[in-house]
Amino acid sequence: MSPDASPTECSRAGCRQVASQKVNWRNPRIHSADRVKVWLACGEHVEFLRDYLASRGFPVLVTGIDEGVDLVPENAP
Ligand SMILES: [Zn+2]
Repeated sequence: MSPDASPTECSRAGCRQVASQKVNWRNPRIHSADRVKVWLACGEHVEFLRDYLASRGFPVLVTGIDEGVDLVPENAP
């Protein structure tokens, strides 16, 4: 995320809406288990972003915008 971007703007490309949720994720192939990447999502795109990551086999956990997680658990089988 660029430094001048609003920290509450949806991470979906081209979307300028205020984010309402966090999409916490990591790539198990390059990130260790305690690493958490965070995308911000508006209500319209939270499912898109979650599904995008989940379809790649990445662990993903959606939380409220004011919440955070220390780690993203592996996807339930
Ligand atoms: Zn959006």
